[in-house]
Amino acid sequence: QGDIDISALALNPRRGGPKNLPILEIFLDDDDSEEKKKQKEKPRLVVLGGGWGSVALLKELNPDNYHVTVISPTNYFLFTPMLPSATVGTLELKSLVEPIRNIISRVKGHFIRANAEDVDFSSRLVEVSQKDPNGNEVRFYVPYDKLVIAVGSSTNPHGVKGLEHCHFLKDISDARQIRNKIIQNLELSCLPTTSDEERKRLLSFVVCGGGPTGVEFAAELYDLLNEDLTLHFPRLLRNEISVHLIQSRDHILNTYDEAVSKYAEDRFSRDQVDVLVNSRVAEVRPESILFTEKGVSTDGKPITITKELPMGFCLWSTGVSQTPFCKHLSQKLGPAQTNRHALETDTHLRLNGTPLGDVYAIGDCSTVQNNVADHIITFVRNLAWKHGKDPESLELHFSDWRNVAQQVKKRFPQAASHLKRLDKLFAEYDKDHNGTLDFGELRELLKQIDNKLTSLPATAQRAHQQGQYLAHKFNKLAHAAPGLKANEITEGDLDAAVYKAFEYKHLGSLAYIGNSAVFDWGDGWNFGGGLWAVYAWRSIYFTQSVSLRTRVLMAMDWAKRALFGRDLMSY
Ligand code: FAD
Repeated sequence: QGDIDISALALNPRRGGPKNLPILEIFLDDDDSEEKKKQKEKPRLVVLGGGWGSVALLKELNPDNYHVTVISPTNYFLFTPMLPSATVGTLELKSLVEPIRNIISRVKGHFIRANAEDVDFSSRLVEVSQKDPNGNEVRFYVPYDKLVIAVGSSTNPHGVKGLEHCHFLKDISDARQIRNKIIQNLELSCLPTTSDEERKRLLSFVVCGGGPTGVEFAAELYDLLNEDLTLHFPRLLRNEISVHLIQSRDHILNTYDEAVSKYAEDRFSRDQVDVLVNSRVAEVRPESILFTEKGVSTDGKPITITKELPMGFCLWSTGVSQTPFCKHLSQKLGPAQTNRHALETDTHLRLNGTPLGDVYAIGDCSTVQNNVADHIITFVRNLAWKHGKDPESLELHFSDWRNVAQQVKKRFPQAASHLKRLDKLFAEYDKDHNGTLDFGELRELLKQIDNKLTSLPATAQRAHQQGQYLAHKFNKLAHAAPGLKANEITEGDLDAAVYKAFEYKHLGSLAYIGNSAVFDWGDGWNFGGGLWAVYAWRSIYFTQSVSLRTRVLMAMDWAKRALFGRDLMSY
């Protein structure tokens, strides 16, 4: 655990900060080289987390401008899009990870394997915790000039009882546990002492959540059961095995285009994956799942039916929520943070409410508070003035709103998936208000829409774009204020002066759905297909993989599986 590189960083005997803890400083020994001295002069950039956002930042950052320290409890970067493949042995776990130190070496930075616990924004100190060799917790401060928070998210429990009986899929250890559990269930099912009923339960695999992770896991599991089972477990009958996917909405992959969801559902129905839509999990028990299903009574009234599904394995994959660290920061920053799900930043990705404006938040742990509502108001105002009308006394028709919606889409591409809802809201309002809206009503309506538009998708794609954006900005900042030494960074709103605001560009979504894949590029551009789509899907992720090493390993795994099948061993 003790992973501090003491050749260049050391705990200063000086204690300080609000909790009077030891402070980690850049350490220079007697025979220090010029290079080390230069490092000490540079502004200290501290990055919390070693995931998608941080790695994109580290890969684009100019190596000469900052003294970089990365703090994370995991000492590897995990290529999450392929994690479902690792749960069934299509890919090996080690093919999806890259040591974080390999990535940091590019910027001559340091790594501290520890958890960030708190930040003292006024004295620019991150409080971190770590276990010492005796297993006792030690805490100390790491000072920064610039801080990037990229700590990702936690699984969302949605207040459901019994999640201790579920598996999660966030990290490499989760994938290992899932793989072991699946194989254990298959082994137990083969025992001559296992009853028929027990065997059916053990072989009932349930996935809660019909988003991309749940769908891809169900697809990988289906592949395993179909392709390798008869070979390795000839005693088991395929029709004794069931895969169920429980989804609270009326479609799986509901953030994708409707045609894509439909394609995936048809595919699953052909492959006998039992998709239960409009169903909500009420409780997870050790051997079964209680869920409610929306239905219609014989006299046509909507009803809710409670059902119990026996299960031998359950994956909980129903979205993300804030980590305890981020929740704590959010509370600390008070009214400047109004979002319950993520840390709010301005459009320059600076954390709202910090006194010095030198803290940034990117990736799943953050949300950009954009000004969609302001933008629409300005747009409508301009439209009114253009037509010689006073905006405050303006009455606009639904057709005008369609025009506005198109403008929103152009300015905020991330709004594309919400446009359908936006249109619906406008249409409902239009129906109730005799075809017109005044300016006050528009503001009220925009409040609802704005809330929906502020949340960017929690995807690797977004974290990657934000990491790259910060690196480019930091590179510019380093040159915009020449002569500034460490601890003298007082750029204030230099950010806005040197670099544009962050704009998310949606490049499309893809998902593997079991020997076929679906692609959604937005604006109705989407398709799904068989083997060729799987190869296209693999190629895209292959090229995005973090290093040559992981690419080679992934290619070898795919070849190995094609030649010899999956390794069905638990370890
Ligand atoms: P992460 O990549 O989660 O990294 C967070 C880092 O912070 C980790 O290193 C963690 O150890 C560290 N950390 C946590 N707490 C602390 C702390 N207190 N102090 C310091 N460090 C801390 N997205 C896509 O775009 N496409 C996909 O196909 C896709 N598939 C996915 C499949 C799975 C199974 C999963 C789980 C996610 C998938 N995602 C996908 C989502 C994507 O992985 C996330 O959006 C992305 O990882 C977010 O990046 P991040 O940098 O914000 O956080």
